[in-house]
Amino acid sequence: MILFQVGRYSHKFNYFCLTFEALKEKTYIDPQVGPVLLRKNRRSRRITLRVSPRRGVTVTMPLLYPFRIGLEFFFSKRDWVLEMQEKQRDRFKEETQPGPEEIEAMRSEAKRILPPRLAELAERYSFKYNQVRIKHNVSNWGSCSRKGNINLNLNLVRLPEELRDYVLLHELCHLRHPDHSPDFHALLESVCPDHRKKEKELRKFRIF
Ligand SMILES: [Zn+2]
Repeated sequence: MILFQVGRYSHKFNYFCLTFEALKEKTYIDPQVGPVLLRKNRRSRRITLRVSPRRGVTVTMPLLYPFRIGLEFFFSKRDWVLEMQEKQRDRFKEETQPGPEEIEAMRSEAKRILPPRLAELAERYSFKYNQVRIKHNVSNWGSCSRKGNINLNLNLVRLPEELRDYVLLHELCHLRHPDHSPDFHALLESVCPDHRKKEKELRKFRIF
């Protein structure tokens, strides 16, 4: 988090504070920076500008300053804000993006655990597939071809076991229904009763 502080503000009119409660926040949408929250704070004596990777851009200002002053302050620092956002994005990428070695480790783990598990589930629920391949893409967790081949994303190894099974069962059901029709969902329901909950949970995970 980076902080700018300028100026000082006399707070002798502080008794007005309570009347202005409802007007304490405004958001300006900058085409490049995104949302900029202008926030008036009773205790604030000067304008501060924060750029946080999680909370975004916030200008905090004394209660009696007009929002225009906060916005002007943001504009005077706009280039700096863009620079900070860029740096924070890079740092975020470095922290979360797996490198080539990690991808290879995930691939060999995927090859070790996914095919046997798919075979096990297929056996349990009487599904017959042709081949299984381990793939690396960012668009889907798995897919099933018309020829009965199942592709599984190596990212599946990062998921909790029950979500991984859900993806495998979802693809196995596509062997009989190559769509998301009511018939497909009825079949999925019979092999994975809480599939809707799992589908929702799955959306919280990113594919790298
Ligand atoms: Zn599907």
